[in-house]
Amino acid sequence: MMSPPYRSYVLVSLDQIARNYRNVRAAVGPGVEVMAVVKADAYGHGALEVSRTLIGEGAKWLAVSSVDEGVALRCAGIAARLLVMAGFLPSEREALVEYHLTPTAHSLEDVAELDRMAQRSGHPLAFHLKIDSGMGRLGTRAQPGEIVAALRALRLARMEGLMTHFASAADFTSPQTDQQVARFNACYTALREAGMAIDYAHLSSTNAIGYARTDAWHNMVRAGHALYGYVSPPRGAARKQILDVQPALAWKAKILAVKDIPEGTLVGYGGTFRAPHAMRIAILAAGYADGVFHRLSNRGKVIAAGQLTPILGTVSMDLTTIDVSHAMGLQPGDAVTLLGTEGDVTLDAQQIARVAGTISYNILSSISARVRRVYV
Ligand SMILES: *Cc1c(COP(=O)(O)O)cnc(C)c1O
Repeated sequence: MMSPPYRSYVLVSLDQIARNYRNVRAAVGPGVEVMAVVKADAYGHGALEVSRTLIGEGAKWLAVSSVDEGVALRCAGIAARLLVMAGFLPSEREALVEYHLTPTAHSLEDVAELDRMAQRSGHPLAFHLKIDSGMGRLGTRAQPGEIVAALRALRLARMEGLMTHFASAADFTSPQTDQQVARFNACYTALREAGMAIDYAHLSSTNAIGYARTDAWHNMVRAGHALYGYVSPPRGAARKQILDVQPALAWKAKILAVKDIPEGTLVGYGGTFRAPHAMRIAILAAGYADGVFHRLSNRGKVIAAGQLTPILGTVSMDLTTIDVSHAMGLQPGDAVTLLGTEGDVTLDAQQIARVAGTISYNILSSISARVRRVYV
């Protein structure tokens, strides 16, 4: 393949994302709906292209973080159900209704407000209610009796789903997830016993799927990271990981310049690297403004001509310098791999994250908008 004419670009395999989605569906079985999480531009893979692909695979539900993200997908013609997971501001209420987005209510005040919004519009409005089962972030901490009373007072809004989110689903040294499941189930049962219909009950994201916490699946799961090929490493005595997913993205940067430097040359801001001997360096057309973590300065690696090679000196805003002493054939215009596979050498988001002191989600979602997405 001719290399794309961009300074830095990601190659996204939509086929791999489709395979990952099918793998998640097969793992949870036919009785469990898979909501595909496409927030944060589908973790850097491109929300619109990923959404179209997954809808083509039969996805009925997509999840985004914000009203803005939902509106962008609607405007691009996405007709699937869209759950907005991370709250809505007063200024976003109108768009929520106008674009037929499905809000997540995080408090009983949200529930009452959604009913007022439905009445103003004259149309029914379905929402999902999130409970804080122990993560201590978004979600209501109201008692089941209070929730029942709030739901009974509704006129046009309707609770369609009951959900929660786990703080530590890959951590088998902690009882936190089991406690969260127990609290969720107590609330779920109390609501059902009070006669509340609940079409969807959902708690699990990638790690609770991958580590087969089947008691937390109910009839819907929310998969994000797994669609993009990752399951977090476990802690403690985890159950066997049941997903077989692969990364779908490779990130490249072109070489802008190649040069030979003598022993003792300082490289980059702050002069933090001093060449211990004569070497050949290449300057790459990507820096921290593209998503190359500054923390990778003098620590990270890239793949050049099929070999792992170190980043030299500090990562700059637009440029990164690497050692190419092993690859005398590399020229300006050639591409190196910042994330991905060349031959039998792989550098994935989890490996990069370990060196950068962060998590793979952070690496993927930090690849900035100016890095062109190319679909293969
Ligand atoms: C991001 C998110 C998910 C998806 O999590 P993954 O670990 O990427 O599968 C699910 N639910 C909520 C509430 C989220 O914010």
